[in-house]
Formats: sequence, C-alpha cells, structure tokens
Amino acid sequence: MAIATVNPATGAVERSFDAHTPGQVEEKIAAAYTRWRSYRTSTFAQRSAWMVAAAELLESEADTVAAVMTTEMGKTLASARAEALKCASAMRFYADRAEGLLRDEPADPSTVGAVRAYAAYQPLGVVLAVMPWNFPLWQVVRFAAPALMAGNVGLLKHASNVPQTALYLEDLYRRAGFPDGCFQTLLISSSDVERVLRDDRVAAATLTGSEPAGRSVAAIAGDEVKHTVLELGGSDPFVVMPSADLARAVEVAVTARVQNNGQSCIAAKRFIVHADVYDEFAQRFVEAMSALTVGDPMDADTQVGPLATEQGRKDVEDLVADAVAEGARVLCGGSRIDGAGWFYPPTVIADISAHMEMYTAEVFGPVASLFRVADIDEAIEVANATSFGLGSNAWTADPGEQARFVADLEAGAVFVNGMTTSHPELPFGGIKRSGYGRELSAHGIREFCNIKTVWVGE
Ligand code: NAP
Repeated sequence: MAIATVNPATGAVERSFDAHTPGQVEEKIAAAYTRWRSYRTSTFAQRSAWMVAAAELLESEADTVAAVMTTEMGKTLASARAEALKCASAMRFYADRAEGLLRDEPADPSTVGAVRAYAAYQPLGVVLAVMPWNFPLWQVVRFAAPALMAGNVGLLKHASNVPQTALYLEDLYRRAGFPDGCFQTLLISSSDVERVLRDDRVAAATLTGSEPAGRSVAAIAGDEVKHTVLELGGSDPFVVMPSADLARAVEVAVTARVQNNGQSCIAAKRFIVHADVYDEFAQRFVEAMSALTVGDPMDADTQVGPLATEQGRKDVEDLVADAVAEGARVLCGGSRIDGAGWFYPPTVIADISAHMEMYTAEVFGPVASLFRVADIDEAIEVANATSFGLGSNAWTADPGEQARFVADLEAGAVFVNGMTTSHPELPFGGIKRSGYGRELSAHGIREFCNIKTVWVGE
C-alpha cells in the first residue's frame, strides 16, 4: 500500500511520502536502542514533565491535528478533536500515576528466607508499535504514554494511509522535550515489519489491527521469542432485554454502531433483542439510523462521514450483498451513496442467519445486524457465536440478568446499561481472536516491563 494521504471524502491524493530506505530504518533502530540505554535511567519526575508538556501541546493543537486526521481517514472533525483531547488526558493520567503503578511490590522476606524481597518493574527496551488508521492518535497514544512513562522507547509503524498523523506524533513528543530517539515514526510498508521485528535491538511489539496482521506479527515474534500485545478485531454484541430503558438503549445503539463512521473495534455490531421488545426496538432504531446526517466530515452538522478507504467500502458492500442474496432483509440503507468519496449510509439488516458471512465477520462500517431471541440463554448463545471476544454490551434493569451477562459473555469487557468505551483507568483488550494482553490502567503499563524478582540475603 502506498504511503499517502488520500482524502476519503473526495478520493483525492493529498500528499504522498517516500518510504524510509533500509539505511534510514537502520539509523532509527540504532538511535532508539542507544537512546533507551540512557532513557531507562531517567526519573519518573523527568518523564512526567515531558509527558505533561506533550499533553499541553496536544491540547493547544487539537484543532489542527483534528483537521489532519479528518483529511486522512474521514472521521468527523468533532470526533477527531475529541480524540486528541482524550489522548491528552491519557498522557496526564500516566504522567501522574506511572510511578505509583510501577512501585516495587514487596514480599514478606521471612517467608522466602531473605532480608529483602520484592518484584520490580523495569522497562523492556525498544518496542515496535504497528498501528491502525481508525483512531490514528488514540491507538498510538494509549501504547506510547504508558510505554514512555515506564522507560521504554517506541518505534511506530503506522497504517500507510495516516502518515501525516504518524509524523505529527513523532514531532509532538520531540517538541515536548523527550530526547531524540525516544519516539520515532518509521514510514515503512507492512512487508518491512518483519525485518524490524527480528532486529535484536527491538525487544517487543504491540499490534492493533486485523486478525491476519496480528497473526503475522505474533508468528514472527514467537519465532524470535519476543513479547507481544495484540488488539485485533471485534464483533461486539449489544443485548437488549425487556426491562431495559429502551429510549436510552436505542440512543446508545445508534452512537455505538456509527461512531467513527462505523469503524471502531468496540463498536456494537450485532444487536440481539428479546422478542418482547424486538419490534419496538427495531422500529425506533431504524428511524434513528435513517435520520442521521451523512456528509462532509469537516462539516459541523455531519454525523457520519465516509469510510476510510475504497477497499473498506467494498468489503462492507460485499458482506451486505452476500447477506441479501441469502435472504436477509435491509430495513434501511444498504447501498452506497453515489458521488465522490467512499460514503456508505447507516444500515440495519434483519433476518441474518448462521450461513451468511456477516454472521461471523467483522463489519467495519455503519451496518447493524438485528437478531430476535426468545430468552437470556439464546441471547448469550448468539452473543458468543463469534470467534471474536473484544467488548460486549447488555441492557437490563434486572440484577440477576446483569450478573448472568457479566459471568457468561465471552469478551474482554462487558458494559451494562452504558456504551462500551475505553478509559485510562480500566484495562482494555480482548480474548479469543480479538487478541491478548491489555492496554491502559496498571495492566497496560506493566505489559512492556520486565517484572524482575529481587531477593537479597544477609
Ligand atoms: P490492518 O490492515 O491489520 O492494519 C493495521 C496495521 O498493521 C497497519 O499499520 C498495517 O500496515 C499493518 N499490517 C497489515 N498487515 C500486516 C502484516 N501482515 N504484517 C505486519 N503489519 C501489517 O487493520 P486496519 O484495516 O488498519 O484496521 C482495522 C482493524 O483493526 C479492524 O479489524 C479493527 O477491529 C481492528 N482494531 C482493533 C482495535 C483493538 O483495540 N482491538 C482497535 C482498533 C482497530 P499498512 O497500513 O501499511 O497495511
């Protein structure tokens, strides 16, 4: 894939970039490794000052970087700005908390025959981050903020369609005061990832993206015996039971499905509704989805912009066409919006069955699948009938049902009566084919640490 900014709202190539040469990549790996050997001994206070400076810069530049993100991948300007501010708050979170989250954990020395014994969290080294375009700042920052605060350094291989955002991030950390080499962007293709990952100076990798990309990076890292974190796709269930606040459930259902123009890993994608409230939910949901304003993502009135790539829209079209050919019913939307750009309307599809591709695939666009179920057992069965296990959402006022969903939904997160989202205070990650490892919270900052056992005798 060419490294270029192609505006999804127009299809126009705005800017192209030459990939870094093997010599340039070598220089960057060498700079990262050399820098890490001194950076690892910097104090939390020093790193924290740099991280707060980065947050301040980002806050002051939120409008500018938001316009870059919107131009590169089509999210609405308002959501791009919100993303920039969320990144700044995650930076502040780790600037404030890293030292406490990585404090030595003492063991009772008498039980292990020591004078002193504890677990220490030490940085691993150079971490390669392979990142997707859908939240082009957030996906990177939720790795970089904890990793840099822990004393690691980062090499970013961003998605090929968001090079300007990738270069902005490198520049941001440099201007904030982080020493050269702490955070660098590699303009390379996905086929060049293997060479970087196999380099002895690179200690570990994190990948957010699709299952094939994750499988490839994990296989290479496995061969090199290097630690990885994988944040892969999802097909989150959104279950609605009879006791739910239906008005609120519908409102969140719409936002959860069309956020980021339908291209979020934790978007609710499959709407599983109890038969007692199915008809009412379906009617209100279709009305609300149909009423959304689709258009230029730079326009303040737009609620849904274009899909990020031409191929992405084709993938969505193919899944819808397959479902319709197999007997599914389109309740609204269902065919591309003609004209320039890669627009696809908010769409609701009913009568999905297990043999359709859409039943198991991740639909990365504003297309909702509706399922009618007879009871909570069937709801959980349908919810879990996927190889993914990222987020999940359940709507019920019944405490017994809430406990059942928490216990039985196969996912890395369950949100009850509210929208699934990421918070710096809470861990984020998946099970099954949605990946492994966790980002954010204490778990995220400890992923790229050597948890060193320290035992000191007489
Ligand atoms: P993608 O095609 O897998 O790309 C993600 C990144 O991996 C890009 O930098 C890409 O580079 C690179 N890449 C692709 N194939 C690779 C390979 N074989 N080896 C090494 N690197 C490779 O995914 P995407 O289309 O950008 O993003 C959408 C996917 O990400 C969805 O499945 C979504 O659910 C998932 N996602 C998951 C999370 C999560 O937290 N779990 C969050 C956001 C998105 P190029 O651009 O150069 O191809």
